[in-house]
Amino acid sequence: MPHILIVEDEAAIADTLIFALQSEGFGTTWLSLGEQALAAQQNQPADLLILDVGLPDISGFEVCKRLRRFSEVPVIFLTARSEEIDRVVGLEIGADDYVVKPFSPREVAARVKAILKRMAPREPAPEIAPSGPFRVDGERVQIHYHGQLLSLTRHEFRLLQLLLAQPERVFSREQLLDGLGVAPDAGYERSIDSHIKSLRAKLRQVQAAAEPIQTHRGLGYSYSPRHA
Ligand code: CA
Repeated sequence: MPHILIVEDEAAIADTLIFALQSEGFGTTWLSLGEQALAAQQNQPADLLILDVGLPDISGFEVCKRLRRFSEVPVIFLTARSEEIDRVVGLEIGADDYVVKPFSPREVAARVKAILKRMAPREPAPEIAPSGPFRVDGERVQIHYHGQLLSLTRHEFRLLQLLLAQPERVFSREQLLDGLGVAPDAGYERSIDSHIKSLRAKLRQVQAAAEPIQTHRGLGYSYSPRHA
């Protein structure tokens, strides 16, 4: 039975979520502070987090950022305002989905199910043979480029790993999102471009003249060993 950690300071909202999730057979824990959630996830990791953006101690964004230093657990954000949605969708915070308040608890439970289903059948990350100047270590979630360790976010790591696995293959944004385990309908398509942009900036810091990630206008992106 998957266990869901709800991080929400409003008891009424937490209650409806607990009810909806337990009705679907999930186990639940409810915490109202971000720091508590981080500690809980370190000691007894839940299978998914539902994380309110507006928490009394630290923001949900900060919680997610710190969470990603040690955990890849899926996160659904609860947001109250449109400017928060822009940050959730556009920024590099490693969320898997979001819902806007007021929401239907049953809808949230359905999203939880969908995300856990998407995660479940995924095969372990393929160990990739050295590809040109790249060395991928799936277990340590590390990629070296020309001998230098890249400092990558979770999504950047997965994107690069995906591209490296099939040199010269052109991936559409939708295929890349799918590889990240992010729902294509969640409004994240445009965020692929921003992930690629920051990934390229990091690669350029190592090798300024190279352009290993190629853009194919109207199609998507590929890894080109010839340009690495
Ligand atoms: Ca709140």
